[in-house]
Amino acid sequence: MWQSPDNSSPPQHLMTLMTQHDATIFPCVIPQMEEAQGELALDDSNDARKRTLSKSFSGFISAFINRTDVWFQQAVYRDKFGCFCKKVANGADPVSRRLIVNHLSGDITVCVPATNGEGLAKWCAWDSDLDSDHLARIAAVLVAIGFHPLKEGRREGREGHMWLMLDVPAPAADLLLFNRLVCSYAEIDRNALEFFPKSVNKLSQLRLPLGVHRKPEANHQRGWFDGAPKSIAEQLIWFAAQPKNSTERVQRLANAQRIAEANALRQARKKRVRRFANRVGSLEAIDILSLVDARRVGDEFYAQCPACAAEGHDRHADNLRISADGKKFCCVFGGPAATHKSREIVRILSKENR
Ligand SMILES: [Zn+2]
Repeated sequence: MWQSPDNSSPPQHLMTLMTQHDATIFPCVIPQMEEAQGELALDDSNDARKRTLSKSFSGFISAFINRTDVWFQQAVYRDKFGCFCKKVANGADPVSRRLIVNHLSGDITVCVPATNGEGLAKWCAWDSDLDSDHLARIAAVLVAIGFHPLKEGRREGREGHMWLMLDVPAPAADLLLFNRLVCSYAEIDRNALEFFPKSVNKLSQLRLPLGVHRKPEANHQRGWFDGAPKSIAEQLIWFAAQPKNSTERVQRLANAQRIAEANALRQARKKRVRRFANRVGSLEAIDILSLVDARRVGDEFYAQCPACAAEGHDRHADNLRISADGKKFCCVFGGPAATHKSREIVRILSKENR
């Protein structure tokens, strides 16, 4: 469920998206933050600055918190894997201003989910544990195509995090495509570093900036942003002044990537069919799974039978049954008599992919 920590109404773009998805999601109950308890305990007597700071703090929460019902605490487990993040029970202690204050004061370290649980994200980020130039190369690409990335958490031997804060929440599916495009421009193997959100549906999370890193080897360093003095107040005020990035622009690039990937897939299919056509061997030689959009159902795969499709049926796309190893397939239309013979199916597929 989409939850806005600052009680603002959702942006139009999101409304449209959510309406398409599920009309019942809006309006949702937005949990009130504990304003009174959540005052930032910062030693500052200047009232104007206090107001600026309070506004910056709210902006920080609103920018990073995709959902308030789930968060993670970075806790140290001393096994051979070092440290990992522990999931805190849903809803028992939802995200509040107090929680974020505790994070900033260093009492605890909060990791935040990369999506709202409905496939939308207010930010995307890259995480590099290596001392390489990957983040620098990605930053260079992002800047070159007009974006404003923020580096954070850099320390000796580790590049840290790089964040792209978005003006309105973006579909995670588009962000994943956008990452593939950026990595290809930067000539980086996208598996060499982590990208968030990691997936559309699964929960992935990243340490919230400005907190204390709990890993013993991190020496309790904080996740400071590059570009501002290392104090919580200065960093919050600096962050508030940073421009957000256009989600619309991200989506346009994601679309370009989507088309490029579809074309590449078509080309690869063509090649495979040509290879098959050259080989006048048995039907077993054909890699049927690479030629159709199949989905796993139990022990086999289902796909639309191209012969059925050509006759205007098999709208459910389940007449073509493929064995688990992809070696055997048949159309179940017409029962055991097999109205559509495998050779006919292959002939249609070769024409489609020519
Ligand atoms: Zn058929």
